[in-house]
Amino acid sequence: MIPSNDKTSSFSHQELMETNTGRPYTAPIFRVEPNCLTFDSLCTANNKRRPQFKDKQGRIVHNNKPDGGWNLSQWSNATLGELGEAANIIKKIERGDFTDAEMPGIMEKLAYELADVQIYLDLLATAAGINLGYATVAKFNKVSNEQGIKVFL
Ligand SMILES: [Mg+2]
Repeated sequence: MIPSNDKTSSFSHQELMETNTGRPYTAPIFRVEPNCLTFDSLCTANNKRRPQFKDKQGRIVHNNKPDGGWNLSQWSNATLGELGEAANIIKKIERGDFTDAEMPGIMEKLAYELADVQIYLDLLATAAGINLGYATVAKFNKVSNEQGIKVFL
């Protein structure tokens, strides 16, 4: 299970709530509620955190530009690397490597790897000058139209 009181997040509930509502948020910070996440709030937090991100030696990795000083193949490799980490966990789950008692912790690891994919995917889109929220709505609705399915974002 994802900890309900995870205080290790790099961005606060307050920042996310202020981004989403456009007004100051003064309630105590206990955790990041899933329903406060939007593509815009993820992108805003990514843009704020990216220039502060350090490697294992403590060196700043990215600059202040939208691409952070990486080319698109570096961002896409990072995204796929995280997807590979998720796939490796899934492989081990399906292979039966874990006991029932281990599964909650394993599912938490899988959730964090999938979150890594989403975070990097937003960074990749930003580096390419693409608003992932708009692109997702447009593509979802395009496919619904093509399929004749009346489900739209
Ligand atoms: Mg990871």
